[in-house]
Amino acid sequence: CGVFGIFGHPEAANLSYLGLYALQHRGQEGCGISASDGSSVRTHVGGGLVSDVFKDNKIFNSLPGQAAIGHVRYSTAGGDSLKNCQPITVKYSRGSIAVAHNGNLVNAQEVRCDLEKNGSIFSTTADTEVIVHLLARSKADALADRIAEALRAVRGAYSLVFLSETRMVAVRDPSGFRPLVLGKVDGAYVVASETCALDLIEAEYVREVQPGEMIVFDKDGMTCSHPFKEKKLSQCIFELIYFARPDSTVFSQQVYEKRKDFGRQLAREHKVDADIVIPVPDSGVPAAIGYAEESGLSFQMGLIRNHYVGRTFIEPQQSIRHFGVKIKLNAIREVFEGKRVVVVDDSVVRGTTSRKIIKMIRKAGAKEVHMRVSSPPTSYPCFYGIDTPTRKELISSSHTIDEICKYITADTLGYLSIEGMRKVVGVEDGTCGNFCDACFNGEYPVKFPRLTDDDQLG
Ligand code: 5GP
Ligand code: SF4
Ligand code: MG
Repeated sequence: CGVFGIFGHPEAANLSYLGLYALQHRGQEGCGISASDGSSVRTHVGGGLVSDVFKDNKIFNSLPGQAAIGHVRYSTAGGDSLKNCQPITVKYSRGSIAVAHNGNLVNAQEVRCDLEKNGSIFSTTADTEVIVHLLARSKADALADRIAEALRAVRGAYSLVFLSETRMVAVRDPSGFRPLVLGKVDGAYVVASETCALDLIEAEYVREVQPGEMIVFDKDGMTCSHPFKEKKLSQCIFELIYFARPDSTVFSQQVYEKRKDFGRQLAREHKVDADIVIPVPDSGVPAAIGYAEESGLSFQMGLIRNHYVGRTFIEPQQSIRHFGVKIKLNAIREVFEGKRVVVVDDSVVRGTTSRKIIKMIRKAGAKEVHMRVSSPPTSYPCFYGIDTPTRKELISSSHTIDEICKYITADTLGYLSIEGMRKVVGVEDGTCGNFCDACFNGEYPVKFPRLTDDDQLG
C-alpha cells in the first residue's frame, strides 16, 4: 500500500490526490482521502484506481480543509472488499480519527480476539482496524499518547498516517519495514511512502520519518518523539528490488541506481556468452541496463509492453484465450532473430511469467535464452506487507535452480546471490544489516504467532 498526508495547506485534498497518483504503483485495488477543516473529518473511499475513484471534481468540494491524508490499497490482510478501503474513519468519545496504513500487523488476529471478547465490534476484516479500536479504548489524554499506547500492543510492519479534527500524526514501526518520508511545500508539512509523491507536488524532501518515530503536526508545528523500545532495523529490501518506483529514494538509497547495481552484480556472478540483453518490462529495465553495462553486451528493448492492460482485463471467450502473455507483452522478431539472448527480470515468484516470456522469445527466433534474475530465489512468503503467494506457490520453495530452469525452458538460469544483494545495499559483514531479506532466506525478524498449512515453513 501507499500512504500520504499533508498538514497546513489550503489545497490539502487536491494535493493528496496528486500524491496518491504518484503512489498508484503501490496499490490499485482501492484508494481514499480523508480531510479535516478543523472541526470535522470527512472521507471518500472507493474501489479501483485513483483516477476513477476521484473522477468527479465535485468530490473535492466535500473534502474541505487544510489537512488531509490518503491511501492506495493493495490487499495483504483482509481481502479486497470495498469496506476494507482506507483511510478507515471512526467516531469515538473524543471525536473522529482517520487512519491510513502501509504494512501488515503480525498479531492482529490475537489482538482482535481479545478486543472482541471485551465488546469491540469490528466493521472491516483489515488488520488496521485493531489500531483504531485500541486507541479509542485508551485512557490517555493526548492523541499522541493514545496512538503510542495502541501501537505498543501490536507487532509487525506499519507506516501510518492519522488525521483528527486538529492534528495529523505520522508513525513508522521500530523495525522500519516500510518507507515513509517527510517533506515541505508552501510552508505545509507532507508525509509520503515514497519521494516520487513529493516530487509530483513539488515538495522539498526533508528527511525520512525515522524507524520508531512519531511526528505530531498541529497548529504549533511539528513535534517528534520516539515512544517505542528500540529494535534492530529491518527495512524491506524488496522495496529496492521491485516494489518502490525507480525515481524514488527509499531508506536513503536511490532506487534506480540500486537496481542497476543489482544488475551489475548479477552480471559479475553469472556471466554468459551472448549477443543481447533484454529486460522484462517495466520492472526489469534498470537491472538489465546494469547487466548490459557490466557485461559489455548490447541492451535492447526486445519486448514491448501494452500499457493499457489494466487489472480489470477480462479474458475473451475460451476459443481465443491462448493470447496469454501476448496481451501484455510482444516480442520484436527483428531484435531476436538468430540471437543469443540474456533476459533480465527483477524476481521470479511463481515462474509463470518467465516461462511464457521465454517461449515467446524463442518463437521470435532467438537461438539461446539465458534467464538472469536480479534478486535471490524468493522461497519464503512475506508477512510484513508485500503480497507474495503462499509458500506452496513460490516455485523456488520446492524446486532447485536446475528444475526451475527446465520449467521456464531457459538454456541457463542465474539468480543474484544473497551476499551479492546485501553488498549492493552496503552490507558486507555476513548479516542482513539494517534490512529484512526474509523472503530470500526465511530468517523472519519479527515473529508471528501462527501460520496456515500453506505457509508452514518446515
Ligand atoms: P511470476 O510469474 O514468476 O509469478 O512473476 C514474476 C513477475 O512478477 C516479475 O516480473 C516481477 O516483476 C513481478 N512481481 C514480483 N513481485 C510481485 C508482487 O508482489 N506483485 C506483482 N503484481 N508482481 C510482482
Ligand atoms: Fe520485504 Fe521480503 Fe522482508 Fe517481506 S519478507 S519485508 S518482502 S524483505
Ligand atoms: Mg515485472
